[in-house]
Amino acid sequence: MRVLVVEDEAKLARNIAKALKEAASYAVDICTDGEDGQHQALSTPYDLIVLDLMLPKVGGLEILRNLRQKGCKVPVLVLTAKDTTEDIIQGLDCGSDDYMTKPFEIGELIARCRALVRRTYDRPDPIVRLGDLSVDMSSRTVTLGEQRIALRAMEYRLLEYLILRAGQIVSKTEILEHLYDFDAESFSNVVEVHISALRKKLITGSQRVSIQTVRGLGYVIREVSD
Ligand code: CA
Repeated sequence: MRVLVVEDEAKLARNIAKALKEAASYAVDICTDGEDGQHQALSTPYDLIVLDLMLPKVGGLEILRNLRQKGCKVPVLVLTAKDTTEDIIQGLDCGSDDYMTKPFEIGELIARCRALVRRTYDRPDPIVRLGDLSVDMSSRTVTLGEQRIALRAMEYRLLEYLILRAGQIVSKTEILEHLYDFDAESFSNVVEVHISALRKKLITGSQRVSIQTVRGLGYVIREVSD
């Protein structure tokens, strides 16, 4: 999953990004003014936007209205010091999906972000099961049958994205757009390398799950019947 944080307090933005990466395995981009934030939100298919309201150049509510007018459906969590009931009502009525006021607890922010992402992918249950494979998105634990599987951060990120879309073909472009932020190290066969690592760790131990390559189209994770 890939998140955009639009926040003009640079240190706070970095702390939020760090927490989202470490505690939720999300790819994260940061914009520190509203103009950049709006441009970025409209040009990249984010899974979630964390949006401050008082921003230089373009305010958060204006960004929100513009996104919704243009038909952008990305979930938006407003994170702001504007904490009156009227502010909250206005934020939600402008098209935000959640509203948190500063100061805030970082753990609560992460949990709310995870809940919004689950809903986007129509998976309200934080535990996703496929065959004998089970992915707990709250604790980021992966089990195959009874056995816990240790994955590297990027392998987990890839598996979570694939399993949320189980049965659908996921293109390499979608994987790059949804799992890599601008800071991410990327090389030409990066997706193939991580897919191959995932297959080795998971699928060789499983009789019931397979990650298939659909030539020219992408990858699909699915349950295999006997
Ligand atoms: Ca601000």
